[in-house]
Amino acid sequence: MQQLLDQFEQILGANGVLTGEDVSSREAGWGRGACEAAAILRPRSTEELSQVLKICHEAGQPVVAQGGKTGMVDGCVAKPSELAISLERMNRVEELDPLSRTLTVEAGVPLQAVQEAAEEAGFSFPLDLGARGSATIGGNIATNAGGNRVIRHGMTRNLVLGLEAVLADGTIISSMSKVIKNNAAYDIKQLFIGSEGTLGIVTRAVLKLSPLLSSQNTVLAATDSFDKVTELLNYMDRELGGQLSAFEVMWNSYYTLATSEGEYGRQSPMERDYPYYILIEAMGTDQTRDAEHFELLLEQVFEREIIIDAVIAKSQKERDELWEIRDNILCFIEWFPVFLYDISLAIPDMERYLAGIEEKIVARWPQGRVGIFGHLGDGNLHVVVSIGSDDPQQHHEVNEIIYSALAPLNGSLSAEHGIGLEKRDYLQYSRTAEEIALMRSLKQTMDPKGILNPGKVLAPVT
Ligand SMILES: Cc1cc2nc3c(=O)[nH]c(=O)nc-3n(C[C@H](O)[C@H](O)[C@H](O)COP(=O)(O)OP(=O)(O)OC[C@H]3O[C@@H](n4cnc5c(N)ncnc54)[C@H](O)[C@@H]3O)c2cc1C
Repeated sequence: MQQLLDQFEQILGANGVLTGEDVSSREAGWGRGACEAAAILRPRSTEELSQVLKICHEAGQPVVAQGGKTGMVDGCVAKPSELAISLERMNRVEELDPLSRTLTVEAGVPLQAVQEAAEEAGFSFPLDLGARGSATIGGNIATNAGGNRVIRHGMTRNLVLGLEAVLADGTIISSMSKVIKNNAAYDIKQLFIGSEGTLGIVTRAVLKLSPLLSSQNTVLAATDSFDKVTELLNYMDRELGGQLSAFEVMWNSYYTLATSEGEYGRQSPMERDYPYYILIEAMGTDQTRDAEHFELLLEQVFEREIIIDAVIAKSQKERDELWEIRDNILCFIEWFPVFLYDISLAIPDMERYLAGIEEKIVARWPQGRVGIFGHLGDGNLHVVVSIGSDDPQQHHEVNEIIYSALAPLNGSLSAEHGIGLEKRDYLQYSRTAEEIALMRSLKQTMDPKGILNPGKVLAPVT
């Protein structure tokens, strides 16, 4: 290993290779203790990374790409025998092109810095998630991140026009196009988006920008049945004429915890015993006109008895307070230990699915609790389960209950967080044997020695 590290230092410079305490003083991943990688390599350019990977490929040395380490499936966690590759020194915003409406960035730029660079020039980069301050655009691309605005702008995949990545053997694949339409054969960049560092390491990207919207209207509404939640979604989506930018639903199980009087609870602006709470946001270009229209629509859904209560945010502070309830995942500390799930399924299947898993969990663990919230407009639910234990065998039993029930419904065990290590052994519940075989053959072609993030996403063949 030392011989390899000496070669890397020649390429990356003295600060480019971290070892010893410089490694162990860093986190392995979100909530995963100290980093155990043999060393952390910090390239400054695509060319440097290419040289490093060429050497790793020849030596059969495994590597793990790391961005902001906010991923939730242990995808960036490196073993003591592996080298971590941090993109933190590749953090330049290279170019904002106002005519193409694109932003060209290096992969290590934090998402928030991308958003701010776009906003300074009068544009918006609409990808948004709670970890925006730490998560990098490279990590967002590698996980095909979703977040709060997917209902309007799509996943990260829809926001990337061009991309540069380095393959396992050091080959640079540069596809830094700014065009929206590009049907010149296979869309190679899509292979890297969502592949969690197993097919290549993303180094640069051309991002698609949107106009910066100046109006924002937000309401927290309550309904008494799931049918009314879906009626509300369809009504608001249709009547807002493209302005709907968030439709987040909180089941009572989540809402009461997120607004409890405990240490982590937020103040509730309305009664806490409604079955469903919905945070709706619309964004447009004229605050006065858009607010009037938004309020008119809310009056209409009240009159039609689709909603039974509502609180409209009248200031940015009130808007933030409503979002803090929705984003209050810390409230689950009161239920610790907990298991987090990020599933998706067709909206008409949701109620039946949730009733089925709750019944099985409470039958097996009478003290079991299930909290549910999520990006319902995208078919994405976050399910949080507490059984009063984090015993691995019982965790596996809960996983089986949650994931196996998705298979007959063609649901997905990962709506946005990816597979990593955590969900790897359950992939067959969401992908057919033929799909997994094709994934394996892609991996074999692009990384024949299996040095990129080994053991993640696809289980090793035994
Ligand atoms: C509070 C909180 C809220 C969150 N909310 C959301 C949400 O709403 N939606 C959502 O989708 N996710 C969410 N996440 C999860 C996480 O923020 C995303 O998965 C994010 O995209 C990860 O980016 P990262 O830079 O931290 O990547 P990391 O965690 O460092 O890495 C994630 C994976 O990508 C690989 N990788 C990282 N960089 C590269 C690269 N340059 N090239 C190739 N592979 C790479 C890693 O090997 C790993 O497999 C949340 C996380 C937290 C902590």
